[in-house]
Amino acid sequence: MVKSLPPRSAVAVEETWNLEDLFKTEDAYNEAIKDVQATVAAFAERFKGNMTDDSSVIEAIDGYAAIMGKLVPIGAYTNLALSVDQTNDEAQMRASKFGSIASKLGSQLAFFSSEISELPIELLEKAMEQSAEYKNYLEELIRQKPYKLHPEVERTLAALSSVLNAPYGLYDTTKLVDMKFDDFEVHGEKFPLSYISFEGGWEQEPDTEKRRAAYDAFHAKLKEYQHTQAKTYDMQLQKEKTISDLRGYDTVFDSLLFNQEVDRSMYDRQIDLIMNELAPHMRKYAKLLQKVHRLDEMTFSDLKVPLDPNYEPKITIEESKKYIKESLAIMGDDYMDMVNRSYDERWTDFAQNVGKSTGAFCSSPYGTHPYILISWTGSMEDVFVLAHELGHAGHFYNAHQHQNYFNSRPSTYFIEAPSTMNEMLVANHLLSNSDDPKFKRWVISSIVARTYYHNFVTHLLEAAYQRKVYERIDAGGSVNANVLNNLKRGVLEEFWGDDVKINEGAELTWMRQPHYYMGLYPYTYSAGLTISTQVSKRILSEGQPAVEDWLKVLQAGGTKPPAELSKMAGVDITTEQPLKDTIAYIGDLIDQLVELTEEIEGVTI
Ligand SMILES: [Zn+2]
Repeated sequence: MVKSLPPRSAVAVEETWNLEDLFKTEDAYNEAIKDVQATVAAFAERFKGNMTDDSSVIEAIDGYAAIMGKLVPIGAYTNLALSVDQTNDEAQMRASKFGSIASKLGSQLAFFSSEISELPIELLEKAMEQSAEYKNYLEELIRQKPYKLHPEVERTLAALSSVLNAPYGLYDTTKLVDMKFDDFEVHGEKFPLSYISFEGGWEQEPDTEKRRAAYDAFHAKLKEYQHTQAKTYDMQLQKEKTISDLRGYDTVFDSLLFNQEVDRSMYDRQIDLIMNELAPHMRKYAKLLQKVHRLDEMTFSDLKVPLDPNYEPKITIEESKKYIKESLAIMGDDYMDMVNRSYDERWTDFAQNVGKSTGAFCSSPYGTHPYILISWTGSMEDVFVLAHELGHAGHFYNAHQHQNYFNSRPSTYFIEAPSTMNEMLVANHLLSNSDDPKFKRWVISSIVARTYYHNFVTHLLEAAYQRKVYERIDAGGSVNANVLNNLKRGVLEEFWGDDVKINEGAELTWMRQPHYYMGLYPYTYSAGLTISTQVSKRILSEGQPAVEDWLKVLQAGGTKPPAELSKMAGVDITTEQPLKDTIAYIGDLIDQLVELTEEIEGVTI
């Protein structure tokens, strides 16, 4: 089952990314570090305590942006080199050496953000008049001002930041270091189990006995750690509530939504509508899975099984180029130029090797081109993953060309819109070019079981649970394992109703998610996908004008809040309509799955 991977040294160069675009040689990298160290020292010398008038403020912002321009590629080189091979001694040493250099530079630079945010509003406004370039950045400083504490308190909080961030570290240590899974047994045969093999394999295992046995063993192990994990999480929640109160926010929700530039109604709507209106469609999908797999009962442990496990089209990296290019061609010449460059100049690391980070990501260091990490397994699914990451790449490639360092990144509410948009474009392309019902069913089930399930079900149910947790915290309460288990189970039962049995262990699902240490993050997945679903439908029906609008949105980077960005693309997310339309679209996809299954299997479902 688990195939043994080659060492990094044995993979083909053309399947690796070219980090030489960041630094040609190790010497050049080391020189760049020396250079940035000197620049930071001179910057601190010049501006610490000296941002006293509008022109020195602008000069300082210029200087800071220039430092980031030097520092970002160094950090990217360090981290990317390690991410493809965590077992590489040289990469490890480089990363730990840079880690201490970066934290020293960070403390030398800390004065900049603290002093600039303490400046009087009049001075910031005067600087704004002098510089259109930094208007957004300065406006953001003014927006944050009412919630700033006395400078001494801010300094104290900053000095304690590693202690305040400790809960997340503790969560990871318990999960990744302490928790050791024993093998589980089915009919006398033993199988290995881990977090990765459960979430990336056993949960989707077509053999029901093995899948359910893995589920039981996985949750039995989680249960042993539930009290430690709950206490760790409570610490995080109490910290967030205390800081929210200190800063003068009405509720912890307001505090956590502030940086997202999202109001409470946009947040609540996402959770309420999906809980109520998507649930009937997803229950229908669960019933379809139950019938196709002839399950005696449909349980929580069966929800991730693929509709057709025996049908998985294979594809090589070379063959994928055709699909990717044809699917994304609608985005225009400039976008395609980026896609072509990503292949020709080796922006993507495709190889599978020992020590490589799992999953996929896109890193877009300001000032250079994006890099994509993926482990190409050869299944058609990889095309969706690659298109997704190219969506992030296309976003920052466009934003970086049009925006300065401070303005390029939008709210997390918007971050997954361009990536999921590209998944939609791939699906649309594949569907319009095939009449094979098995292939069509595979494409639609990929979109339903992967894209929509992940963003609209998994993360949304996390969000619904998380909202209940914060309501309790806002009312002055606290949590423990029993409370969290009850809240989690309640949300799962509400969503799945009588159609799915929430079997024992499901209530511990809250233990699996690091997102809970990142504020109100889980709900943003469905928000991004709501926007991309609507824009991809516009592109299908209107073509070019919708593409033009979307490119402008990408180029706007972080200069506007998410509601305004969406409006630029013709989607008004301050109303219910886009979400209602998206839910109806998911319902339609599930109906198509039922019809295609009836056609393929010649039965009525
Ligand atoms: Zn993404």
